[in-house]
Amino acid sequence: MRIDDIFAQAKEAGRTPVSFEMFPPKGELTLDRAREAAGALSALSPDFISVTCSAGGGGNFGQTAAIAHMIEDEFGVSSVAHLTCMSLTREQLAARVEEYRAAGVHNVLALRGDRPTPESPAFGAPSDYAYAAQIIPTLVEAGFCVGGAAYPEGHIECEDLATSVRHLKLKQDAGASFFVTQLFFDNEVCYRFLDLAEKAGITIPITCGIMPFMSRAQISRMVFMCGASLPSPVIKLLAKYEDDPESLVKAGIDYACRQLVDLRDHGVDGLHVYTMNRPSVARAAMGALS
Ligand code: FAD
Repeated sequence: MRIDDIFAQAKEAGRTPVSFEMFPPKGELTLDRAREAAGALSALSPDFISVTCSAGGGGNFGQTAAIAHMIEDEFGVSSVAHLTCMSLTREQLAARVEEYRAAGVHNVLALRGDRPTPESPAFGAPSDYAYAAQIIPTLVEAGFCVGGAAYPEGHIECEDLATSVRHLKLKQDAGASFFVTQLFFDNEVCYRFLDLAEKAGITIPITCGIMPFMSRAQISRMVFMCGASLPSPVIKLLAKYEDDPESLVKAGIDYACRQLVDLRDHGVDGLHVYTMNRPSVARAAMGALS
């Protein structure tokens, strides 16, 4: 099913759609292990599951479309295949579009992608695209329902939030039908962003991405990669459970569940859970929202 139809139907029914993100497992037997994760996530009946793709071209580059198709075909859940453009030429994008179409993909999250590191195969590869908005018209023309990434605290490379929101609007103007936000730990930050987005003329659904913190290492990676700010309740929990990893994981999931419930109660367009392929995270989220 198209994601824009899912949002429209949920709105009509007065329901908040809940979706999950998963990634293609690294290493061998990617599809078998993806099947296991996708099966467990699908059993929780999310509105859709999105599948990431590696912009660097390493690991399991190329499995995204197959996994997205598997989710729809084997588990009967709608899916979104991510597609990054920062290392693609026009010819490579055309080939990727054909590959996604042949795999039966209906929904695509159009992304620029994280910059490849010097170790990744795509480092220094020629590219015809600098921004995600540039590939959206091609994807829409190919018949996909297309989404884009949104940044409640502004994109890390962008000088300020207002400019980031202006760039977001370019994706809507290019034909995007929905947005999925970057993770955030402070819902007030998200509410301010949603307000700004509305004032900037963004009318398509924005679903809010939440990832539970699991460890100090994970959280510092996130903070440096995407610039998410840490509110003091999170810092206090990190300090409190510094020497107790199990309790920290539990506290992270509880915190994320409280964020989700608060967002739903504020009437956001949708909730997107970064599951990290852990059905336990998705199960806790669904439990809190039931
Ligand atoms: P863009 O929208 O192209 O923006 C990139 C930068 O360019 C921003 O700073 C923006 O403000 C600026 N910009 C945009 N348009 C213009 C313009 N016309 N002029 C000047 N500046 C402009 N990464 C992966 O590698 N694989 C994934 O599967 C993946 N999934 C993601 C899913 C979600 C929901 C999110 C939020 C992020 C995901 N990412 C993924 C990370 C994403 O690729 C990075 O955040 C990347 O740095 C930006 O991607 P984008 O599509 O938002 O880029």
